[in-house]
Amino acid sequence: MHANKRILVTGGAGFLGSHLCDRLLARGDEVLCADNFFTGSRRNIEHLIGHKRFELMRHDVTFPLYVEVDEIYNLACPASPVHYQHDPVATTKVSVHGAINMLGLAKRVKAKILQASTSEVYGDPSVHPQTEDYWGNVNPIGIRSCYDEGKRCAETLFFDYWRQHKLRIKVMRIFNTYGPRMHPNDGRVVSNFIVQALRGEDITIYGEGRQTRSFCYVDDLLDGMVRLMETGDDVTGPVNIGNPNEFTIRQLAERVIALTGSSSKLVFQPLPSDDPRQRQPDITLAGQLLDWKPTIELDEGLRHTIAYFDKLLSENAA
Ligand code: NAD
Ligand code: UDP
Ligand code: UDP
Repeated sequence: MHANKRILVTGGAGFLGSHLCDRLLARGDEVLCADNFFTGSRRNIEHLIGHKRFELMRHDVTFPLYVEVDEIYNLACPASPVHYQHDPVATTKVSVHGAINMLGLAKRVKAKILQASTSEVYGDPSVHPQTEDYWGNVNPIGIRSCYDEGKRCAETLFFDYWRQHKLRIKVMRIFNTYGPRMHPNDGRVVSNFIVQALRGEDITIYGEGRQTRSFCYVDDLLDGMVRLMETGDDVTGPVNIGNPNEFTIRQLAERVIALTGSSSKLVFQPLPSDDPRQRQPDITLAGQLLDWKPTIELDEGLRHTIAYFDKLLSENAA
């Protein structure tokens, strides 16, 4: 039987955070969602308002937070390049000051704490696919650095609180994830392509579209996240969670056009600087530690996501 817990989800009004809140509430837990609504939206969680085990708190994690909880999922951080580059100094602060505050909270209340880290800690990787023992290839002074280095420093803080203060930590390296509730204007490739295809606009491929990503559907990702939190205290991670099926960006565009039946054309725009050329998770460790692997193929996940955006765009047009 699952013992009900009090769980803090930072960034709980965002794409991944709101699905996590749903899942924890369905399991019987009490959920405290803390979000400053920078990239998250009330719409993602409005179906939970009034739920007797759900509490929403407008809070910026760069400021201290005093609450009593058993577990913390630390997801607060803008995740798309367009959003995290909007105020890069704030982005580093969210990762670094946010981690310090949440680790300080975990230390005081003896909570278990999970960090939503990222495949971006590997930068433009020279090891392919990426294993957890690869240290990465990150530019410390480029336009992506506020995110990449912020997340790397957060990992450092997690491991120092673990070594120094014996905290129970879980570090999860999340690879590109997509699904319903992605922000339609956040500039990420899956949301951009679907919205463009549904509107009959040109599909914007950056560079020649030969760079690769491996796309994980949100339900699979959340399953891995919750399993990681449930592991014994000896498991700290970092653990890669993502779908190892790798596609070029051009292939993704073609799948989206096929599945939407759109007449959109491909257009090619300049590749942003420091854009990683390839990315694919090695998920052997997740298999061993969590008995986890993704089960949802790209086409199936895209169909669910397209249905979501189709509804959203028609509601917005009405
Ligand atoms: P998202 O932008 O939808 O969600 C982030 C949430 O954090 C938003 O609700 C936002 O309002 C909130 N937030 C931002 N700054 C905050 C602050 N200072 N205080 C409180 N809340 C704040 O993005 P997402 O895709 O749901 O990502 C969630 C987490 O997972 C992030 O930490 C991200 O770095 C990580 N991640 C996501 C992916 C992915 O592909 N989706 C990949 C790697 C890592
Ligand atoms: N903190 C918090 N909530 C708590 C306890 C601590 O937000 O319940 C913050 C507080 O701002 C502090 C930070 O976490 O600065 C780090 O806490 P820690 O105890 O590690 O360090 P110290 O208080 O000594 O700076
Ligand atoms: N991309 C693209 N067109 C877009 C948005 C993104 O070609 O409209 C490319 C982008 O240059 C990158 C890949 O798609 O190579 C994934 O971009 P995203 O921002 O989704 O994620 P990240 O680069 O952080 O993995």
